Amino acid sequence: MGKRRSSGLSKSLILKGIQCQRALWLKKNPPDFEFPPQPELEAKFAAGNAVGLLAQQLFPGGVEVPYEGLSFPAQLARTRELIDDGAEVIYEASFSFSAIFVKVDILVRDGAAWQIHEVKMGTSVKDVNLDDVAIQRYVLNGCGLSVSKSFLVHIDNSYVRRGAIEADKLFASEEISLKVAARQQSMTELVAERRETMGETAEPDIDIGPHCNDPYACDYIPWCWRHIPEDSIFDLRGSGVDKFDLYSRGIVRLQDVPLDTLNAAQRQQAEATLNRQDATDPQRVTAFLETLWYPICHLDFETFNTPIPKFDGTRPYQQVPFQFSLHVQESAGAEPRHFEYLAPPDGDPRRELIERLLAVVPVDACVLTYNQAFEKGVLRELAKTFPDLAEAIDERLANVRDLMVPFRRRDVYRWQMRGSYSIKEVLPAMVPELSYAGMAIADGMAAMEAYHEMCALEDPVALAELRRAMLEYCRLDTLAMVRILGELEGIVAHSAG
Ligand code: SF4
Repeated sequence: MGKRRSSGLSKSLILKGIQCQRALWLKKNPPDFEFPPQPELEAKFAAGNAVGLLAQQLFPGGVEVPYEGLSFPAQLARTRELIDDGAEVIYEASFSFSAIFVKVDILVRDGAAWQIHEVKMGTSVKDVNLDDVAIQRYVLNGCGLSVSKSFLVHIDNSYVRRGAIEADKLFASEEISLKVAARQQSMTELVAERRETMGETAEPDIDIGPHCNDPYACDYIPWCWRHIPEDSIFDLRGSGVDKFDLYSRGIVRLQDVPLDTLNAAQRQQAEATLNRQDATDPQRVTAFLETLWYPICHLDFETFNTPIPKFDGTRPYQQVPFQFSLHVQESAGAEPRHFEYLAPPDGDPRRELIERLLAVVPVDACVLTYNQAFEKGVLRELAKTFPDLAEAIDERLANVRDLMVPFRRRDVYRWQMRGSYSIKEVLPAMVPELSYAGMAIADGMAAMEAYHEMCALEDPVALAELRRAMLEYCRLDTLAMVRILGELEGIVAHSAG
């Protein structure tokens, strides 16, 4: 393979290269290919920045070396100046060694040496974090700084907010010095290898594998996986056959898989897909419907979760409901009445949301959800938060049933569901005329981002438009349930007739 001039590396490039050298090369040599947008990245980036800023409170009085507005050389010079002037704490200190640029979240003077404090939004230390800090330590050592200790500062999800955020309780700090030092030993070699990869003129010959999603879903999946046909082994759901083992043996198309190597669920999926075949067990559907009763309240919550708890009494990453949609059906086939709630852009929505919900869900109604663990979890948290409403919430909780059950059990299976029982796959297969396609908000993640956007919007026209899209999405979730239930009732009526 030919070589060309190598260029500088950054910590994130090296980390990318540790996951996959091809990813590193592609980052430097982007293919002429239209990648799907990743709108969630911006929100994640903003959340990471907010967490980083808050963690600085653990070491007050530091000086920041900003990224914005300063060139790389200026950031390096400013860091050197702060060190020489005797700064005790530096935020975002910048270093470069062997053409590798790193920024240290929080650098703390420790006698003649320095401590590295790396801040992460996660709730535990992961291997990739150790690599991250090992790169920083390698560069600092290369710049002549001695590192006494290294720490990973992460979110402590047992923290409950009471009043202003207490940084010393929100964060947990774990010393990772020994593990980092062990990883640093191989850093020179590792960096040399990555640099060599970057200098190659041709895309590295690295095939797809489990590394494409470990530790992160790689940005280049749409590119590297483009040779995988529709109806492939990778569509098989659940654990069972080792798909990469099949792939390595040249078995990629579903039709080439020896069916006797699959477990029962995967075999059913494969056969159904290949033969465009559906399966229905009316007796089991009947048994499921007998666990429901009218009136039926089809319920769906939208929630958000953030690393920094937004409201009093909430924990990091707690699912906080801000919206519900409810379709109430008095009897089978009856036209449902629709109720909905979407929180105003400011303040804690939980009290108003649950009061509105309790007002429209009759105490003796069957509360139908799709994936009950989620809605039950939200209701239980609300009961804990509002003890005066706990009894009323518990009464509804006792009546929660799960429309996902017959699809998870495959009492009803349509080949278009592709082995999934998510409502996003079940709805178009069961009720083709209803679809999430083309909606401005089309999944729970987008709804969560819309909530954050709504809280920041000032333009009343844009705000109204966004709220309309949010209501439309949530409404479809419960309308979908009404229609799917109708299909199940139709199956039973048909089999009885
Ligand atoms: S998609 Fe997989 S093979 Fe391609 S660059 Fe990413 S990790 Fe490497």
